[in-house]
Order: sequence, then C-alpha cells, then structure tokens
Amino acid sequence: MTAETAPKVSADGRPDEGLGLSYPCGTAPESGHGREIVPGVRWLRMHLPWALAHINLYAIADDGGWAMVDTGAQTREALANWTRALAAEDALAGRRITRVFVTHMHPDHVGMAGWLTRRFDARLWMTRLEYLTCRTLVADTGREAPDDGVRFYRRAGWSDEAIEHYRVRFGSFGRVVHALPDSFRRLHDGETVRIGAHDWRVIVGNGHSPEHACLHNDELKLLVSGDQVLPRISSNVSVFPTEPDADPLADWIASIAKLRAAVPDDVLVLPSHGEPFRGLHARLDRLASGHEKSLVRLRRALSEPRRAIDVFGALFARPIEGPELLGMATGESIAHLNHLVARGEAVREPGTDGVLRYRLRDALAGA
Ligand SMILES: [Zn+2]
Ligand SMILES: [Zn+2]
Repeated sequence: MTAETAPKVSADGRPDEGLGLSYPCGTAPESGHGREIVPGVRWLRMHLPWALAHINLYAIADDGGWAMVDTGAQTREALANWTRALAAEDALAGRRITRVFVTHMHPDHVGMAGWLTRRFDARLWMTRLEYLTCRTLVADTGREAPDDGVRFYRRAGWSDEAIEHYRVRFGSFGRVVHALPDSFRRLHDGETVRIGAHDWRVIVGNGHSPEHACLHNDELKLLVSGDQVLPRISSNVSVFPTEPDADPLADWIASIAKLRAAVPDDVLVLPSHGEPFRGLHARLDRLASGHEKSLVRLRRALSEPRRAIDVFGALFARPIEGPELLGMATGESIAHLNHLVARGEAVREPGTDGVLRYRLRDALAGA
C-alpha cells in the first residue's frame, strides 16, 4: 500500500516547536551538499518530491570509504543530488561507498539503495522485516488496487470519489524505489556493528514501520534516529489495508519507552527530517504525551458512534483536504481507534451502510 509519500500529519495536531530541544548544528545543508557533524560523521541532504521536501542522510567514515545511512527517494533530483554529493569536498569527497544502511523501507529512505549498492558493489544492511516488506510493496507496483484495500477504505467511510483516487494512485511505491538488491545483510536488534573506528548499536523500534533500525554510538554520543524520533513533527503511525486490525500505536508507544531506557539523554540525535538536536528524552516524553492527549480527545469524540473519518477534528489541528492527506489521516485515525479497541475501551461495529462505527464501551453500557 502507500507509505510515506504524503505530508506527515502531526498526531497531536500541533506544531512541535520542541520545549527543551536545541539545534547545535545550525541550518541544514542544501540538497546534494553536506557538513561535518563530528570528525568522521557527515550530514547530507537530498531533495524529496513531496510536501516533506527533504531527507537527511548520514555518512560514517568506514574502512576504505563511507558507510551511508539512508539514501533518498529515486527521482531525477536525487540523482543530481547524489552526483554532486559523491564528488563534493563538503559531502563524500570522491571516496567510495562501502556499505548502505537503511533505517526502514519507506521510499525516502530506501529509494536509492539499489542504485548505490550496484554502483559501488556494496552490501545493503537492513532489518529483515523492512527488507521483505519493501520487496512486497515493490511487487505491488503497477497492480490493480486490491478488493481488500477498497473494502478497507469504504469501511472507513470514504466517498466513491476518494475510492477512485485510491484506485488510480495504488501501486506507485515502486516508482520511487530503485530495484532492491537481491540479497542483504540482516541487522538484528541489540547487535553491535563496527563501522570504521567505532561501534554502533542497533536499536529496533516499531509502529512507524515494521522493524525500524536506529544506530547508537555511545562513544561519540550520537543516535542516528531515522524516523523513530523526529524534532518538530511526529512520525506517521498508520493502519494499512493489509492488516486492518493492527495496533501499531501500541508498538509505537512501547518503542518510545524502549528508546528512552536504552539511550542516554546526552546524545546528539541525527534524525531523517528536520535538524540534528539535543534533548532526546524531552522529545520522547513529548511524543508520548502527544499521543495520550490525542487519545483523551478521541475518547471524548466517541461518546456518539463515529466513523474513522469523523474523528479527524479530535486528532489533527489542520483540515484534511485532498486524497493524499485523506489517506494518511485515515490510517492514523484508524491506528488511534484500533488502539482504543485493543485496550477494551471502545467497540467497533458496522452500520447499515457497511461503514464501521466506533464508540466508547461505557457509552454503549449507558445507552
Ligand atoms: Zn518513514
Ligand atoms: Zn522519512
């Protein structure tokens, strides 16, 4: 199904101007440019063709060149950005790519991994679920929209027009992802990977994607956080038609607690979007409380039976307009609703029109 090809919707609906965060690395490099963060670690930027118009990549000095973390989406601009970055002194300075680490399978992260690994005969390092899920989604490219997907969005309350947009847009994932390599090196949760002169520990999180890898360096006090921790915006946590009853929000909330326990607060966080920042624990606390506040507002909205598309006002501050935003908002809305159902707080039942209605269990008992 679609992944991160649309603008993110903040789960608590408010601008995340982080209290307690600082941004010591200054303004971002331009697309295709880079900057040293600490000796042996460089911050690069690539253009993205979406509302979220950039991604950060990190280059880590390895034996014989650079290990890359993430790669950008496959677009004409990304190719131009890469061509510059590979040669430029401020970026990769003409040294080869030794390995390609990918935090997770969204196109902005994995898109150019196949291109890079082939060009440099380098190995792709990725968790197994991210690699396999990516191959599944790429295999959907060009297929007709599946009946299960149409049913899923109808049950959420989508109009015929929105369903038509879904049919037309379905299967676009692989168009921005270069063919993946046919083999990879699996990243395991908790393992230590030596890159050049330093050890990096893999920490897996779930909820935004199936098995997202972060890289923590205790010596340099760095956390390459991917989309698992972002400043300013909260990561998309969505239910997709392939697993309509999933509860990714439970995974996401558990991952926030896991990261907080596993990584000290004094790291510099290197996120995939936004700027490197200090204040990891404050940020994680704010993300957790944002979801709790969303659930409070959602419970209030469910005193009456509601469809998934009726509760956007409780979850998002901005109006949900246009097919792309509708898709993202519906996935996030169902993630929050499914979480209340999984916790036994809400029930879900189809109306006479076949569309699912959600309401609080207490409201049901009082009716
Ligand atoms: Zn992502
Ligand atoms: Zn991303």
